[in-house]
Amino acid sequence: MDHRVINFGAGPSALPEPVLEEAMKGLLNFQGTGIGIAEISHRSKEFGAFLSNVESLIRSQLGVPSTHSILFTQGGGSAQFSAVVLNFLARHRLLHPELSGEDPVLDYVVTGSWSKKAAEEAKRLGGSKVNIAADARKHSQDQKSFDNIPPHDAYTFSADPALIYYCENETVDGVQYSNNESAPSSFPFHLLKQGSLLPLVADYSSSFMSRPIPHLADHALIFAGAQKNIGPAGLTVLIVRQDCIVDVDAAAKLGAIPVPLTMSYKTLADSKSLYNTPPVLTIFISGLVLQRMKDQGGVEYYAEVNRRKAEKVYEVLKTGKSKGVLHGKVKEGSGSWTNIVFDVLGDGLEAKFLAEAEKLGMKSLKGHRSIGGIRVSLYNAITEEQTDKLVAYIFDFVEQNA
Ligand code: PMP
Repeated sequence: MDHRVINFGAGPSALPEPVLEEAMKGLLNFQGTGIGIAEISHRSKEFGAFLSNVESLIRSQLGVPSTHSILFTQGGGSAQFSAVVLNFLARHRLLHPELSGEDPVLDYVVTGSWSKKAAEEAKRLGGSKVNIAADARKHSQDQKSFDNIPPHDAYTFSADPALIYYCENETVDGVQYSNNESAPSSFPFHLLKQGSLLPLVADYSSSFMSRPIPHLADHALIFAGAQKNIGPAGLTVLIVRQDCIVDVDAAAKLGAIPVPLTMSYKTLADSKSLYNTPPVLTIFISGLVLQRMKDQGGVEYYAEVNRRKAEKVYEVLKTGKSKGVLHGKVKEGSGSWTNIVFDVLGDGLEAKFLAEAEKLGMKSLKGHRSIGGIRVSLYNAITEEQTDKLVAYIFDFVEQNA
């Protein structure tokens, strides 16, 4: 479709065109039922089969073990900021009824705007003490920016926290954990208590399905909103280890904070994610995206393409090549593959950068309002060719404005 531009937006973000075309057909007639996908009952056998296939597509591509359930819910990543606290406090209370009356500790690693927000919600909900296990700002150049993944010796985990929380990819600030375990910017899995069922929680909202998940089986919960790599907004995917699906009402009787039924992982698990009406259309489009991913070689294939796309953009930001016109905001080695943030230096040059890109059909490059600058989001639907077009433009821009 020639009126479409390249959308480098951070989310909701670009979706593959062939999927959108197929989705249009499904809107009129879902799998030959004669009923459109936005109109069909979520309890119909056709939708039930589709939903269970969406689960299989995630399970097989990420290698999710049988110890973990895949659940679907709503409320986005933000609702999980609250749900994780409530469900893990309930779990901790059931594991340690003898500690009734004491507030358990929640460990939060703060590497950017989203993990900061999650930690604030944990404090707000109460019933726990929040320990900031590491704060990336303390390791930044100006002591206040989220421009790095902290070194391994910066972490202080508690002895028996009710949860240990981190955000794998900080969408606003453009920092991401390395997926190479020997890199200093990898997550320090080796510092966690080995051999126990760790309450390790990860926000994968903006990197879900972009590459394999390191140490997936060691996680208690991985959550992600759909609206970046897999579909429209409205769906949240949870990969949850079964020991974290607990009877929240039994925990409440022991003094834990009551958990709203729609937020309880047990409600979702018992009802096979159909406790109430799910976002049927979003699940449909996400299923089409995931099927296409599988047909193309799965998450491993996307990881390779995504690595190359990111390398190409970071290459232009290197000092020798950006000629004082551009300045990457993130410390080398901590940069996200998905959201790449930089400043355009010089009076009026940022506006010029955005305007000229737009004339060439490249949109949504403006950085998040909280940090400004430019943000290039390279989700799965952005092809390598589209990335090449952007990179060529950036090189040209640097040449003309150096
Ligand atoms: N975590 C991360 C890393 C995000 O990027 C976002 C949204 N951009 C959220 C959480 C919040 O997600 P939602 O808007 O779906 O609540």
